Amino acid sequence: MFDDKNPSKTPLSDLGEFALIDLLTKNFTLKNKSSLLGIGDDAALLDYEKNTIVVTTDLLVEGVHFDLSYMPLKHLGYKAVVVNVSDLYAMNAKPSQITVSFAASNRFTFEALEALYEGLAAACNHYGVDLIGGDTTSSTSGLTISITALGSAQKNKITKRSGAQENDLVVVSGDLGGAFAGLQILEREKAVFKVNPNNQPDLSQYTYGIQRQLKPEARKDVIDLLESLNILPTSMIDISDGLSSELLHLAKASKVGFHIYEEKLPIDPEVILICEEFKLNSTTVAMNGGEDYELLFTVSQKDYEKIKNHPYLTIIGHVTEEQTGCQLINGLGVTIPITAQGWQSFNKED
Ligand code: ADP
Ligand code: MG
Repeated sequence: MFDDKNPSKTPLSDLGEFALIDLLTKNFTLKNKSSLLGIGDDAALLDYEKNTIVVTTDLLVEGVHFDLSYMPLKHLGYKAVVVNVSDLYAMNAKPSQITVSFAASNRFTFEALEALYEGLAAACNHYGVDLIGGDTTSSTSGLTISITALGSAQKNKITKRSGAQENDLVVVSGDLGGAFAGLQILEREKAVFKVNPNNQPDLSQYTYGIQRQLKPEARKDVIDLLESLNILPTSMIDISDGLSSELLHLAKASKVGFHIYEEKLPIDPEVILICEEFKLNSTTVAMNGGEDYELLFTVSQKDYEKIKNHPYLTIIGHVTEEQTGCQLINGLGVTIPITAQGWQSFNKED
């Protein structure tokens, strides 16, 4: 299951905790000036000078947040970093350090954890973050991973959920619903595999959705783009639970309402095809499918010229007064109240 090309299966009990940590972390080097001291002492030392420090934590539990029957451990390691740095980008902060803690049962070999750390390393390199510590322990069932990410931002550049103003434009990066569509494909193939393990599925039509589910990226490029365009969003959040749910968070924190236009929602053509195949409404998937890790933000009307027609960005609506609530307006002009479906419950209802 872990790595077909690597036949060795070293039990964790052969290594002991310290040798395990040393082996897993030996290829990580410190890249950031703010990382004064990393792994090896009782605690790490950081120096952020005058910047505001931004901190976030995520916990991933096997069977709840990931399924190793279709999620390779290397991808899991990568995604575990992505979900954390995405939260920092959503504050308009730059990530610089992570700590990684895990609990693994004896089902996991050294080679399996090595694959997890390869994914962590790839993400650390891609996002320019240093691994500066963590904790390692055993578990009686499965794998649990907790990552804490630290970053920094200039005080006046931080974007909270609470700054949206009436008449601001609502913008989303990339496209929506892909990760949820990919999950439908992976769940279906898992069910097929249970019945017929020799079946070799042809997944070539579904590469985008599967990639969105298994190897998401955090939108560092969008943060850099906004900086280069000299745009400071009035509010921002990353889309982990689905657009509807994130809009409601912004609305509550900013005390505003939203008008969102259904025909503006950015959806990849492959996602529309997958929705047709599964008889799902693509608008529902775009509104409620989670794990896309795109950025949702509001900008002042004066920034319109800078962002219109940008290939990474789509204006999907505008901010209204609080009493209006959050409304989705369809092609016929019919207004539908947006409710939080959260993608997990969405999955169950299906
Ligand atoms: P302590 O007993 O003080 O908790 P540990 O023996 O757990 O220290 O950890 C030794 C060093 O290795 C520390 O710097 C710690 O941050 C780091 N470390 C422990 N586990 C991990 C891990 N899973 N990934 C990265 N670094 C780790
Ligand atoms: Mg420890």
